[in-house]
Amino acid sequence: MLALCDCNNFFVSCERLYRPELRCRPVVVLSSNDGCVVSRSDEVKAMGIPMGQPYFQIQGLLRKKGVVVCSGSLVMYKEISEKVMRLLSRFTGEMEEYSIDEAFFSLPAAAKDPLEYVSGIRATIERWIGIPVSIGVAATKTLSKLATDMAKKDASGVRQITGGNARDMLDATEVRDIWGIGRKTAEQLNRHGIFNAGHFVDRDPVWVKKRFTVRGLMTQLELKGQPCMPIAAETAAPKSIQVSRTWGNVLESLGDVSLAMIDNVVKAARQLRQNHLAAGGVSVFLRYGYRHHGECGYITTDIYFDSPAQSDSELIGAVKSSIDKIYRPGLGYTQGGVTLRDFSDARFRQRELFSEDASERRSKLERFSRAADEINGYFGRRAIFPASLAVKDKKWRPNRKRLPENI
Ligand SMILES: [Mg+2]
Repeated sequence: MLALCDCNNFFVSCERLYRPELRCRPVVVLSSNDGCVVSRSDEVKAMGIPMGQPYFQIQGLLRKKGVVVCSGSLVMYKEISEKVMRLLSRFTGEMEEYSIDEAFFSLPAAAKDPLEYVSGIRATIERWIGIPVSIGVAATKTLSKLATDMAKKDASGVRQITGGNARDMLDATEVRDIWGIGRKTAEQLNRHGIFNAGHFVDRDPVWVKKRFTVRGLMTQLELKGQPCMPIAAETAAPKSIQVSRTWGNVLESLGDVSLAMIDNVVKAARQLRQNHLAAGGVSVFLRYGYRHHGECGYITTDIYFDSPAQSDSELIGAVKSSIDKIYRPGLGYTQGGVTLRDFSDARFRQRELFSEDASERRSKLERFSRAADEINGYFGRRAIFPASLAVKDKKWRPNRKRLPENI
């Protein structure tokens, strides 16, 4: 048996966690720079406001309906997500973090009554972290996704698909709501008279494979309860890590650009250490000018380390010196990014044979960075951070007009 745990209206739930006064009010969360709607509370869903709707189109409507509008804060959501995942992993066999707010997992052998077991998990996450989740249990990933969709509509927040009730569930599911079936495929299926998941499983597998490739066939088998997609417990190590930002203001001075890029590299470095990696090189880019008037373009540069680096201090140093090199005064900088690359496993690195001192120094810096990560893991991401970022006016921060104090 496997299951899917999905946080309800995740970004909205995160906002409500820190601002309990939003609990009984309709809420939307906007993407970066207040572009479009990326999370809606149930009340907003009921108003028919779709996901992805550009904010400027519905600004008036939201005001009229008394909807609270929040600027998204991905850093906070990631932090809460990590807490949910860490807690969830205590109760699971294998577990695959599928997205920021969803994880597939296998039920441990000790879980005799699956529904009762996942109800317990749900209550624990709600009580300890305060994030409401829905959990669907079934024989396959595709079915557990369906079960979760149904669990969301149920007050209990949990649902199981078994041999006994599978057919009814399939008949009640439109093909466009099946996991892995996109809008185009759904339209194609409709043209062949296939409107719900029940219709789809009844079709000849040979025909399904011919029309919709092996991927379609796998979906059909999964809907029949035959697992084709195992839980990917170990996510593949990334080949590179990029953190780039469009800044909230046009940055002019070397100091401001430098700080904005340090902010980027600190975030990238944290991900690097989480993956137990060290970087052999760093690329940085700066974008300047406006698209609509005047000169615009990119400046880039690459740095290579003598031996792979992992600590904040070494990576910040590299980015700072490269910004000093490529910065040109008189240009307005609008965006910048850092890419860490050429990775090696930090746990199995060669010590440098001819420079004991350098190795010793580096290992101290890395231990310090890892300790800081751990402290931030307990006390929130901003408990310890490089002193250079302790400035009041963070000009690089994206525009977040809908900050709590403005509501
Ligand atoms: Mg969700």
